[in-house]
Amino acid sequence: MPKCQSCGTTWTWLQCVCRLCTLGDCLTCPSCRQDQFLTIKARKKTSLFVFIAPLLMFISVAFGIEPFVSLALFVASFAVVLGIFPFLIELTDERGPMW
Ligand SMILES: [Zn+2]
Repeated sequence: MPKCQSCGTTWTWLQCVCRLCTLGDCLTCPSCRQDQFLTIKARKKTSLFVFIAPLLMFISVAFGIEPFVSLALFVASFAVVLGIFPFLIELTDERGPMW
């Protein structure tokens, strides 16, 4: 689980998910209210999740899977990604370059 680089507090899974549902590039620590950012390594790891939705669509079309099953597969994969996402992120207190 990620640890705040300002105060050292380890975030809970629920705090991570709530913080990740923001549109900005910074995550505010629930304990000290300092802005935290994903490390470049964490961003690279988590960017692979972007390809899951197109991959599922491709698999659904290529193998002729029914739309309801495809939707269930998509929801299940979203739940899995959401479940493991907080375990893959690392925080830094400095805004790094985008790449
Ligand atoms: Zn903190």
